[in-house]
Amino acid sequence: MNRIETEGSRFFSLEYFPPREQSARERLVETTKQLLEIDPAYISVTYGAGGSTREGTEDTVQMVSNLGCEAVPHLACVGSQPEAIREILDSYQAKGIRRIVALRGDMPSGMGLADSPLRNAVDLVRLIREHSGDWFSIKVAAYPEMHPQAESFDEDLDHFVAKVNAGANMAITQYFYNADAYWDFVDRAQAKGVTIPIVAGIMPITNYSKLARFSKMCGAEIPRWIAKRLESYGDDVQSIRDFGHEVVSRLCDDLRRGGAPGIHFYTLNQAEPVLKICRALQAQ
Ligand code: FAD
Repeated sequence: MNRIETEGSRFFSLEYFPPREQSARERLVETTKQLLEIDPAYISVTYGAGGSTREGTEDTVQMVSNLGCEAVPHLACVGSQPEAIREILDSYQAKGIRRIVALRGDMPSGMGLADSPLRNAVDLVRLIREHSGDWFSIKVAAYPEMHPQAESFDEDLDHFVAKVNAGANMAITQYFYNADAYWDFVDRAQAKGVTIPIVAGIMPITNYSKLARFSKMCGAEIPRWIAKRLESYGDDVQSIRDFGHEVVSRLCDDLRRGGAPGIHFYTLNQAEPVLKICRALQAQ
């Protein structure tokens, strides 16, 4: 039986990507100081498949820890050798890191899954449990609107359940703008015996063209009425942000009222959109 992870009274968690430039690193320190206002349960830091951002992930994890917030590294297994993953796990354990987000990642172009000894996130969850026992609390990804490469909803759900049964303690969803997709996924997972918390991943809306491009790639749907409204604002950035804020705040409020165990913001390393949403929620 997996230990059920809770965040106590803390409802929000945050996600960063490792910045490349020194100036962006410095900005992220300031962003973090601002975001501490919402008392996040932790800040997670993404990892490039094949180890492409290993140093950046570790540096950002260190920066977050230095500012007094728990940092949670992501680890993507595809394209990596098990020995390299074990070494990373040992180094995180030596630094006292207790939580990790375990992912497959996306294959660098030109490489097929067949070239990878660790093909799916479930392989990574198993490796972590075999190598590090119960040291890490493991979070895995979930897809309320189905992973874009999955053959069917049912198969995708079975693969999610396999990750939970292999030892995951918590799940974070891909972002979505349709709360029904989230509740349906939670119901279907629970019907299969899943009891771990499934935290809702939320992407604030600040830039429509980037969001549309990214959503296409990762299989997240922007409902037609939202897409049409955003499109209608053209280059009017302020109206896009205002409408995006309204839509996402309402979504977060619905999720909170409906009993979601937490909200994980994909911050894109920006403080303001997240702070504004959290302040709006706290005011209600
Ligand atoms: P999996 O759980 O392995 O699933 C991937 C696909 O394979 C699904 O279609 C699933 O149905 C299928 N599948 C699973 N197991 C099997 C099996 N045994 N046999 C056959 N098919 C199977 N990417 C990064 O590179 N770095 C990050 O830091 C990162 N962070 C993320 C954080 C969150 C919260 C989320 C939701 C995604 C993140 N991603 C990240 C993106 C993620 O790596 C991609 O979505 C990737 O395509 C799938 O990763 P996964 O861990 O969900 O894979």
